[in-house]
Amino acid sequence: MTTMDTGSGLGSAPRLRDPRYDILFEPVRIGPVTARNRFYQVPHCNGGGYRDPSAAAEMRRVKSEGGWGVIFTEQVEIHHSSEITPFIELRIWDEDDLPALAKMADAIHSHGALAGIELAYSGANGPNLYTREVPLAPSHTPILTFTSDPVQARAMDRQDIRNLRHWHRLAYRRAKRAGFDILCLYGAHGFGVIQHFLSPRTNQRTDEYGGSLENRSRLLKELISDAREEVGDSCAIAVRLSLDELAGEAGFSNSQLRDMVAMHAELPDLWDFAHGTWEACSGTSRFKPEGAQEDLIRGLKQLTPRPVVGVGRFTSPDMMVRQVKQGLMDFIGAARPSIADPFLPRKIDEGRIEDIRECIGCNICVTGDMTMSLSRCTQNSAFMEEWRKGWHPERIRPRQSETKVLVVGAGPAGLSAAHKAGLRGYDVALAEASSDLGGRVSRESRLPGLSAWARVRDYRQGQIAKMANVNVYRGSFLTADDILGFGFEHVAIATGATWRRDGIARYNLLPIAIDPAMPVFTPDDIMGGSIPSGHVVLYDDDHYYMGSVLAELLVEKGCTVSFLTPSPRVAEWSFNTLEQGTIQARLLEAGIDVRVTRGLAAVEQAGVSAACTYTGRIENIACDAVVMVTARLPEDALYLALRSREAEWADHGIAGVKVIGDANAPAAIAWATYAGQRYAEELDAEPLGDQLPFRREVARIKD
Ligand code: ADP
Ligand code: SF4
Repeated sequence: MTTMDTGSGLGSAPRLRDPRYDILFEPVRIGPVTARNRFYQVPHCNGGGYRDPSAAAEMRRVKSEGGWGVIFTEQVEIHHSSEITPFIELRIWDEDDLPALAKMADAIHSHGALAGIELAYSGANGPNLYTREVPLAPSHTPILTFTSDPVQARAMDRQDIRNLRHWHRLAYRRAKRAGFDILCLYGAHGFGVIQHFLSPRTNQRTDEYGGSLENRSRLLKELISDAREEVGDSCAIAVRLSLDELAGEAGFSNSQLRDMVAMHAELPDLWDFAHGTWEACSGTSRFKPEGAQEDLIRGLKQLTPRPVVGVGRFTSPDMMVRQVKQGLMDFIGAARPSIADPFLPRKIDEGRIEDIRECIGCNICVTGDMTMSLSRCTQNSAFMEEWRKGWHPERIRPRQSETKVLVVGAGPAGLSAAHKAGLRGYDVALAEASSDLGGRVSRESRLPGLSAWARVRDYRQGQIAKMANVNVYRGSFLTADDILGFGFEHVAIATGATWRRDGIARYNLLPIAIDPAMPVFTPDDIMGGSIPSGHVVLYDDDHYYMGSVLAELLVEKGCTVSFLTPSPRVAEWSFNTLEQGTIQARLLEAGIDVRVTRGLAAVEQAGVSAACTYTGRIENIACDAVVMVTARLPEDALYLALRSREAEWADHGIAGVKVIGDANAPAAIAWATYAGQRYAEELDAEPLGDQLPFRREVARIKD
């Protein structure tokens, strides 16, 4: 091992908050309740909901500990006549739902946060696949889900509206009994009945609930005054609305929102504003900077005496202060920044800005909801594992022994393993072949739009640099002989993966014919600075971000690009990160020749042949080079070499060798940081045998 970074040691004296951030810690009154500070965790899903209530509650408890002033649930369906199966959120349909909700409210209160509940009636956005009820909406409307369910919502008559108000009243009472302090009506992102009434696009009624803005906002007015009557003495009543439906004046536009807020300035106790669609509101860092909604929110606060919440993937305290001082908002709303770092407020309060684990804006957390699995976070591997595995984003159980740990490879998996093992108190050596830390995140962060990926490296590198017990050795390519010679008791191999160039991925599970006369590039070649020229066929059978990022880069470099993919749309999986629509639009706008449902059949001397994935019909495309964005192969040679010499381990003092991250099985970055934390968490733990490695909740059986 060659170059060594020495750490400056843990346990520095507690520091004080920088006075310029004092404003963020002012208490703010919301109707009958007061938030301890301006940090407001807006409602966010987590893929757990009613299926994993304790996991969701514990996740929110950690945020309370981390100093948030207000913490919300995800959306809570108020009545069985409107639900969004297959998505898994929360429900407040009857008494059976109260224990889970009360557990969540208690968890939020545990360290002094106010507990907020987001009450949702999805109407035209709820296909009711589970309850089989006929959906209700302001007007006859097809269900507006992206799955194009063959279901329509029926236009509500006056009795339906009276029922809707009654169902809300039931939900208000239950929410108060469950212990919530703030009740927020959901009318944003195109998802809630309130927005469907407000928007002239979805409300074509001719009665007193349709037509003029005053009429379209009548339901909201009634729901809020009912809430006040029911629980207004002790609970604050808030509303979450879209800043702009993004459908021009035909929809609920930003100017209509302004008119509405001016018309009903004192109606709710708090206004919470979010962008029009979820895609627009939760834009990734690839397409949206921090604070992207500023123009849409500016001036709204001046229309109302009530406090205003806004979002913008805020991780920088200076940016937060500016939002408040410039009168853009009273509360710093945050979902993703609170997921990536549940302790963000406390770190600012304690003057530990450099310890903030900044959200990278990748939307892997969103994919948990979209795939109805538990959400995960690239930056915070403990997210949704707080209850299941007892993981914590800041703390970890101390080491059990004096053993020394060697981590080979400083990509996200190796950095994460070294950081967490270091936190446990082990002596850790982190050896990296190159002169840079970060592995794939360093390489990928140099690609267009992906600079925020570097935060995965920067946070961990910064933390490790403060630990005297973690030593980093750069320029240290290790062999099995080296490792046997060192005599570390535990060895983690985190040597990453390499993109394939043989065409193998999902469409081709076997190698295809490749004429050696045709130059073939992989993402590794391009990230290494080797750029093709002329007409390039980019073949994407990976379906996430890499193909489209490289296609845009190649256009920037002057290439003509044909983008081939076996999927019916480009970057198929990025649908789950809410990016697919933007990506496809950008490729088309960049003049890229997009050819979907095309599988690569062969690479020939002067072009490629591609097969239609439906008919098998072959087409030939002439080109000067091919870029293969296909599968990857683990770089596991070192691990396999060590395994083949297992008989020698004991003589060299080695107790265990594990392969983690992409070197084990390539996946997205979040999988690698998770593997690193898991390695450190399980280091020297008792083997679980046949036990499940996590807790879960199983449905209670009723007669
Ligand atoms: P992961 O996503 O699993 O963390 P990466 O590919 O990002 O994987 O990182 C792997 C890192 O391991 C790279 O920085 C690479 O330089 C380093 N590496 C690979 N082989 C060795 C080796 N034999 N010795 C030291 N470092 C290695
Ligand atoms: Fe941010 Fe990505 Fe974590 Fe979501 S998964 S909170 S976008 S870092």
